[in-house]
Amino acid sequence: MVDSKPLFELNSYKAVFIVFVLYWFSGYPLYSDESKLNAKQSKILKESYSYLETLEPKRIKIDKSTYNHLTQFESIFKFGFSGKKLSRWIQSRIKKYSYGSTGDYVAMYHDGDVLLGRSFFSLNRLDRVLVLLHEARHADGKNYSHVVCPENFQFLNPRDWKIHPAGKKGCDSVSDGGYGITAAFLFELGAYGYLNQTEAAHRYNSEISRVLRD
Ligand SMILES: [Zn+2]
Repeated sequence: MVDSKPLFELNSYKAVFIVFVLYWFSGYPLYSDESKLNAKQSKILKESYSYLETLEPKRIKIDKSTYNHLTQFESIFKFGFSGKKLSRWIQSRIKKYSYGSTGDYVAMYHDGDVLLGRSFFSLNRLDRVLVLLHEARHADGKNYSHVVCPENFQFLNPRDWKIHPAGKKGCDSVSDGGYGITAAFLFELGAYGYLNQTEAAHRYNSEISRVLRD
């Protein structure tokens, strides 16, 4: 049975006070559109790390000399390829996750906090891992800040075609920044057969396209 008559009435001062207190305890920032992840989003985030943690080195599936020539993982991370170790590496750098509008980016890093945009949650698990790995690198300081991509930059953003990197701060001038480390990770996935060589190469090339050489 629906009764439209309120059970009790609040005066407006009390109502405003109660709303404020509820807001305060919810942990939501009052003056921005950032919010905590909801249960479904937290689950998607957790699944991204669980997937990463299944990726461990096994027998190398590519030509050994090609592997030795191109592998960068250990020289960058200072440990051999391991999804579990990489998961820890990322999680030690990201203190907090929020959801909110990220404009021209899938995610943004600020002071230990990663702001995830709507599109993050519809990516597949590998792309989510790449985004987290990329953002985690920003925790290592200004050395890894992006530089502006050239105006004639013609590579597509593989995760969202609406995002055009040309003329935007979406490139790196160092080989071990956010894009270099995702490339190094993808190389290992191809070498160990977690991705077929075609997919690994396309993905690797796409990340490495953001590393500008002069
Ligand atoms: Zn970045």
